[in-house]
Amino acid sequence: MALVKCPVCRTKMSSLAPVCPKCGFSHDKEAKIDREQADLYRKRRFSQRIYQLKMMSYVAMVIAMIGAIPMLWDYIKGLEQGNNVILLQHWGSYLVAIGFIFYLVIRVAMILTRRNYRSS
Ligand SMILES: [Zn+2]
Repeated sequence: MALVKCPVCRTKMSSLAPVCPKCGFSHDKEAKIDREQADLYRKRRFSQRIYQLKMMSYVAMVIAMIGAIPMLWDYIKGLEQGNNVILLQHWGSYLVAIGFIFYLVIRVAMILTRRNYRSS
């Protein structure tokens, strides 16, 4: 008996076990029901991943907002008081940049996750 990794969920399982104890994937290619179960499992993992990425993109937007709101606030106050606030020199612009880059990275991860899921 040897330990092998399940090809679907990567749980270690006995090479003698007919189905994976975690996700139900079957080594037997004839077992149609277990194939369906494996597809369901993959689908669930995919939606979980997309959900996580969506949550992270909200976090990225909040980071950008935490920078942008005081930046604009100081800019408007500067206009009222007649002193010129340079937006790119405001501390908030760092947060806007970080949030924006973070957001782009998450979008790319989402595209790759979708592409992976469709091609497999
Ligand atoms: Zn499995």
